[in-house]
Amino acid sequence: MPFGDILGQDRAVSRLRLALSDGRLSQAYCFFGPPGVGKRTTALALAQAVNCLAGPARAPGAATADACGTCAACRKVAAGLHPDVTEARPEGKTVITIDQVREVTARAALRAYEGKTKVFILDPAELMQEPAANAILKTLEEPAGASLFILVTAAPSALLPTILSRCQGVRFDPLGEGPLRAILVRHGRTPEAAAAAAALAGGSAERALALDVEESRATRDRIVQEVWDGLGSLVSVLERAEELARDRARLEDALEILASFSRDLAVAKVSGGDAPLVHADRRAEVPRLASGCSVGAILVMHEAQAEAQRALARNANARFTAERMLLRMRQALEEGQEGGHGSRGAR
Ligand SMILES: [Zn+2]
Repeated sequence: MPFGDILGQDRAVSRLRLALSDGRLSQAYCFFGPPGVGKRTTALALAQAVNCLAGPARAPGAATADACGTCAACRKVAAGLHPDVTEARPEGKTVITIDQVREVTARAALRAYEGKTKVFILDPAELMQEPAANAILKTLEEPAGASLFILVTAAPSALLPTILSRCQGVRFDPLGEGPLRAILVRHGRTPEAAAAAAALAGGSAERALALDVEESRATRDRIVQEVWDGLGSLVSVLERAEELARDRARLEDALEILASFSRDLAVAKVSGGDAPLVHADRRAEVPRLASGCSVGAILVMHEAQAEAQRALARNANARFTAERMLLRMRQALEEGQEGGHGSRGAR
């Protein structure tokens, strides 16, 4: 897939396209960001662009170059058959082995067979064990001509600092709703199914494609319900925080759901019935849930959830993070209740 077809990673892609057009590509990149957002797809697009037989060419009027996507070289890269494009992946195992890396370093020392640039994609790079990582480091320190290394990772901090310092970092962000829906439609989902899955997938196309929408909706409803019910008393806030924090990954998922749900409440409150909602299947209930609460209170709750997400990303303690968020939500609810009746009971 050429750069031009990649959705939702405009910043990363345009940076690479500019470097390509200006002839100042780095010899080693580290593509980092959450799983399932297009890092490997972009690595393959770069492999196509540097080996495309037609270019890389500029479309008329375009500022930057791209692969054609249709020549023999582009098709071979897409099919995983290009002799100068090597992917080292764990393939069922849990590590990228020293043997796989030895093959990479041996190939890096040779001339390209038929392409212009040998490309080596290590994905996920953090699964290189120490001997493998050291072998790559040595190759990065003494790069053979016309080689391009792309290390793909969701956990850059797990890579050796000496490896990271040899790579140019390119950040990939979670996919927005729009691009995510478009990707799902491209994979054959109906627009309705795509919208439902995109709302629940936390910005990951991989997750959205694997998602069981019914099951995910049930999980979402349960989490929203439990958290809202738990805001009733200080004791239940502390209990809920303990439950949420038991599994960090599930806490992250819960925060994602809560943040998108409170966003819906705020949107419904401000713009009325026909506003575009993330959780469109709950359209009928959202205005009712929002009605007991001031906009200010909803926004404070949303900010508490967003702050908790940032805290977890900084590796903060899960239990304290959940407690702080729930306490802020409870306080916001108490201060922002309208018309004398509570807004709890997110059924
Ligand atoms: Zn091509």
